[in-house]
Amino acid sequence: MRSLAVVGAQWGDEGKGKITDLLAGRCDLVVRYQGGANAGHTVVLDGEEAVLHLVPSGILHDDCLSVIAHGVVFDPRAFSEEVRALRSRGVAVRPGKLAVSPNCPVITAHDRLLDERREDRDPLAVGSTRRGVGPAYEAKAGRRALRVGDLLDARALPDLLRERVREKECLLRHLYGAEPPDPGEEALELARLGEEAAPFLADTFDVLDRAAREGRKVLYEGAQGVLLDVDYGSWPFVTSSSPSVGGVYTGAGHPGRLDGVLGVAKAYATRVGLGPFPTELPDAPGADPGADPGADPGAGLGRALADRGRERGATTGRPRRCGWLDLPLLRYAAAVSGITCLALTKTDVLAGLPALRVCRAYRHKGREIDRPWPSLDLSQTEPVYEDMEPLGDDPWRDGRDGPEPSPALARYVKAVEDATGLPVGILSHGPGRDDVVFKRRFFDA
Ligand code: IMP
Repeated sequence: MRSLAVVGAQWGDEGKGKITDLLAGRCDLVVRYQGGANAGHTVVLDGEEAVLHLVPSGILHDDCLSVIAHGVVFDPRAFSEEVRALRSRGVAVRPGKLAVSPNCPVITAHDRLLDERREDRDPLAVGSTRRGVGPAYEAKAGRRALRVGDLLDARALPDLLRERVREKECLLRHLYGAEPPDPGEEALELARLGEEAAPFLADTFDVLDRAAREGRKVLYEGAQGVLLDVDYGSWPFVTSSSPSVGGVYTGAGHPGRLDGVLGVAKAYATRVGLGPFPTELPDAPGADPGADPGADPGAGLGRALADRGRERGATTGRPRRCGWLDLPLLRYAAAVSGITCLALTKTDVLAGLPALRVCRAYRHKGREIDRPWPSLDLSQTEPVYEDMEPLGDDPWRDGRDGPEPSPALARYVKAVEDATGLPVGILSHGPGRDDVVFKRRFFDA
C-alpha cells in the first residue's frame, strides 16, 4: 500500500486524529486536503492531550512531511498559534517537515466575523464552529478569495484586500449591523502573518506528484466526516468542503487511484451543531430538545455515553449530541467514499451500559430502507433498532498478544462487518497511542 485516505464515516469527531497519528508513523507524507481550523484532531502524547486544528498529524513524527494542500482554507492566525504551541511542546516545526500550498484561500477577520454574525442572527445558521470556514470557501468559489501566496506582497496587499472584502463589508455593515475590521490594519496583520508562513510555502502539487511517482507512502488526512460533506452530507447542516474521498482529488491532487480508504467510525454516534441525527439519545447534555425519548431503553444512556466518552467538541468545547451506531449511515458513507476498511474507535466507552443498540435500517414512508441517499431528508426517517448484548464492565481483556475484545464485543464488531460488508481493521479502546489493536496491515506494516 502506497496511498491511503483516512475519512470520517459519521459526523466528524470519530477519532481520526489518533488513527492518523498512528499511521503517520508508517508513512512518508501526511496531507490535509480540505477544511480548516474548524477541525480538532485530538492526540494524546505522553499522557497529555494535544489538539491539532490545521497542521496535519504527521507533524508529530520526525521522518514525515506534513502537507497543507490547496483544498484547505488557511487561517494564518490559527496557523501561527498552532506552530507556536507545537514548538513550545518540543515538536519540531520547520520547512522540511511542513509544506503549505500558496493557493490555499485565506480566512480573514472578515470571514470570522461574518461566520459569527450569521450564527447569531441568521435563521439559516447551522451551528458552525465560527472559524470563518464557510465564508472563506464562498469567496473561493466566488473567485474573490485572498490566497496565501498573496500575503507575501506586503505593498500590494492593502489594495488587494480592500477589493476582495468589499462585498463582505457591505454584508457586515448593512445586513448584520457589525462594523467590519479595518482593512488597513487587517492587511498589516496578514502581511506579518504571511512572513511567518512564507518559509513553509511550496508547490504541494509537485511534492505530491513526485512522492507518488517515487513510490513514497502518502496518507490523506480527512477532517470532519462524510455526513458533513457539502455534496453528500445532511445538507444544509454541513461544512463547506468535501471531507469524503472526492476532496482528496480536488483538494490535494493525488495522481491515480488511492490504494485504500479507511473509514473511521465511533462505536456509537455523535454530532455537534444543528441538523438531523436519527439515532440521537435524548438526555446527553448537547441533545436536541426534539430527540426521540423512545430511543433510550434504559434511562440516562445518552448522558452515560457523553460522560464516558468525554464528548465535547475539540475546537469549540460544545457538548456533543450522542446516539446509537447508525448502520444505514455507515453503509452510505462507505458507498460515497469507496471505503475499503473500517476503524472502530471508542469501543471502551460502551463498557458498563445496561443496554446496547444499533440502528439496522430506517423506516421511511412506510418502507424499510437499509441505506439513505443524498436527497433523503434524514429528519423524515425513523430508526429501526436491533438490541445487542450489553458488553459488561470489561469489553477488553488480556490476551496472549495483548488486549483482546471480549466475546460480546467481538460479536458487536462482527455485526458491523456483516452490516457494511467491510472489515474492521483497527479497534481502538482508549485515548492513548497504545490503546489500539490492528487487525490489518497498513503501509506494509
Ligand atoms: P463549519 O465547518 O464551522 O462551518 O461548521 C459547519 C458544521 O460542521 C457545524 O455543524 C459544525 O459543528 C460541523 N463541524 C465543523 N467542523 C467539525 C469537526 O471537526 N467535527 C465535528 N463537526 C464539525
